[in-house]
Formats: sequence, C-alpha cells, structure tokens
Amino acid sequence: MAALLISDGTVVTLGESNRVLHGHDVLVEDGRIRRIAPRGQAAPAGARVVDARGKLVMPGFINAHMHFYSTFARGLGKAAPSKDFAEVLEHLWWRLDKALTLEGVYLSALVALIDAVRHGTTTLVDHHASPHAVRGSLDAIARAVGESGLRSCLCYELSDRDGAAIAEEGLEENAEFIRRCRAGGEPHLAALFGLHASFTLSDGTIEKAVRLARELDAGFHVHLAEAASDQEHCLAEHGCRVVERFHRAGVLGPKTITAHGVHLDAREVELLAGSGAAVAHNPQSNMNNAVGVADVPGMLAAGVLVGLGTDAMTVDMREELRAALWVRHLAARDPSAGFMETTSLLVHGNRRIADRIWPGLGLGELREGGAADVVLLDYDPPTPLDEGTFLGHLVFGLAGAAVDTTIVGGRILMEGKRLLLDLDEAEVAARSRSHAEALWQRF
Ligand SMILES: [Zn+2]
Repeated sequence: MAALLISDGTVVTLGESNRVLHGHDVLVEDGRIRRIAPRGQAAPAGARVVDARGKLVMPGFINAHMHFYSTFARGLGKAAPSKDFAEVLEHLWWRLDKALTLEGVYLSALVALIDAVRHGTTTLVDHHASPHAVRGSLDAIARAVGESGLRSCLCYELSDRDGAAIAEEGLEENAEFIRRCRAGGEPHLAALFGLHASFTLSDGTIEKAVRLARELDAGFHVHLAEAASDQEHCLAEHGCRVVERFHRAGVLGPKTITAHGVHLDAREVELLAGSGAAVAHNPQSNMNNAVGVADVPGMLAAGVLVGLGTDAMTVDMREELRAALWVRHLAARDPSAGFMETTSLLVHGNRRIADRIWPGLGLGELREGGAADVVLLDYDPPTPLDEGTFLGHLVFGLAGAAVDTTIVGGRILMEGKRLLLDLDEAEVAARSRSHAEALWQRF
C-alpha cells in the first residue's frame, strides 16, 4: 500500500490528552499513522495525497453496541403497538429476527455498514440474532464487514427463548466464530461470546457458555437490566438480581461488555466495577423503549468503564452523544449536569472498550504508531477551536458536519463523499428493498 498523506488539516488527536493541531499533516504507511507534523514536514515523494484543508481530521467513531439486523425494521408498520419492553420484543424484534435468512443477515449488515462509512463510524461492536438462520450467520456478517472495509466485533445472541436445539446452535456459532478470529488473518474482525439477556437464559445454558468462553479466553456481550422486568424475572426465578446472577456464573470480567444497565442497585454497580466489565449506554434506545434512564454518573463514580452504543437506533455517534447529553440534563433537571462525564463515554469510554477488543491498535485516537482509522469532516470552526473548546464544538457544531472522507487501516473507503468500495451502493439498496419486501410478508 502506497504512503498516504492527509495534508494540511486541523488534526484532533483525542486520546488521553487531546491535542488540536491546526495546519498539520498525517502520514500513513502500512495501515499505521507514521507521523503527525506541521504541513510539509512529513511529506514523502510519491505519497497519495488527501487534501484536508478546511477539514477536521480525527479518529473514526466507535459504536459499542449495535444490531446490524435491525435494518429491515425501518418502516415496518406491521408490529402491534407495545405497552412495555417485553411487548416490544414480542411484537417486533423476536418476529423480525425469526424471519431472517442468511442472505437477509448479510444484506442488513451491509446496508448498516455502508451507512457507518458515510457517518464516519469505523468500529462497531455488533450483537446478532437470527434464530432460524443461526449457523453461518456470523460468517455472513463477516463477509459484509470485509466488503465495507470497517472493523467489527461480532457475536451471536445465545438464548433459550426458541428451544434447546436453537440454543445449541447459538453456542456452536459463537464458539466457531471466536475460533475463526483467533486463527487470525482478518485483523478487522473480532469476536465476543453473545448472550441475549438474563430473562431468556437458563442456568444450564449460561454454564455451557461460560465453560466454552473460558476455553476460548473470550469475553461476553450481553444485555443487562435494560428494563425493570429483567430484574423482576431474575428475582422471581433465581432469587437474586441480574448482576449477581451473572457475577456468580462467571459472565462478568474485563473482557465483557454489558449493554444498558438501566436498572441496577448500588451493590450491582459495585460488583460491575469490581469485575471490570464495561457498560454500553444506549440513551436513544432507552428513551424509545421507555425503559428508564441509566445512572451513568453513578456508574462512572463507582469506577465502571462506560461507553456509548446506539442499539441500532442510528450509526451516527454524534447524534447518540447529543441524545445522551439531553437525557442526562432532563433526568437531573439540571442544564449543567454531566457534560464532561457524558462526552467522556464517546471520547474515552469507547476508546478503552475498543482497546480491550483490539489491544495496541490505538483505536479512537490519532497517534504515531496507531492504526490509521481516520475521518475527515467538513468544518471551518466559526469560533476558536482548541483543546479547551473542542468538546463544545463536538456537541454543538461537529454533530451536523458532513463526513467527507473515511479511512480504516490506511485504506480509503470514502473520499469526497464518494464511496471507494467494490460495491454499488444503489444496487445494495435495491437488493435490500426487495429482500425486505419478502421478509415483511413472512413477518
Ligand atoms: Zn441491544
């Protein structure tokens, strides 16, 4: 791969100590950032040049909790209205995922991934379900990930909700895909062991999953106390709260990502912090499903690693960040509540979560030696932009800025808002539409 010079942009490094560097170049070689230097100082002859004048050059965004398969829910009006979260699952998601075939799994992922390229989200941690097409589903998603050029961490959401045979397939699908990732060769792919949620998992199935995950040295990706009903079910069936149940079973640990954590008591937050497990906060989904507001400040204060996911409400992390901030203000009835904490989920939390999945790549920051996952945004700041003002720009200005260029591992996936992928975007959308039409008939 020829050297790539991202020339004369405003470079925002993020990382532990963010730097805003006006008029700087970023030199990329072999998929890594070789140098960040003032304009002209790092330009080798023959480098491919991307002109970044008038643009912000920053790390690609990371989404800590995603469901690619939700693509086909867009515009689907057949689900009966739901009065609570349990009905949202029964009326919509558990009917949609059962209608998925492997072709649908692949197409829904490809659509979401192309959307992510367009929105500058370069790393996505997905959680997948297709109970009637379990085996091969993660390979189907992996094929779409490969075609998109992005990075993705995949898992299959193991559950007992569809009977023992499908649960067994879920165990095998996770284990096999983790082995495939361990075998290497595809640095853009990673895997966790997927679990749906406490209320759809028997003790026996969790035990089997923990045994397999331990053998494979894998963490879990699981929904945690998203609705109050998850806790009620756990107390009634297992005589303890959800975090206690997972903790005792060996699900928690520094490699595990738990999504939501909306209904946790103080002891559970302490257990989570002690275990090192991360929490992915998904505020737009929580508002949409009317399940409540996670106590993010409380979790952070206790030392829990909290990141930001979208639960498939969007692939745009800037949109999710704004929602996270507004709901924090509203929940606290305080317009100044939690600005630094909330922005830290995206800027720091997701970087640390990605570093656990892809150690040493330096995802979520621009640093010499780190992976060249870089996005360029159209942005001429109308007010002073420096380290002290960046977060204000991120929330109030950059959120609306167009993504011009998306680069992952030094490969340009989009430049000048034109996709440089080996696929035809319009053709993918047309295939997806016709597939969705048939799927909606089966729904
Ligand atoms: Zn989810």
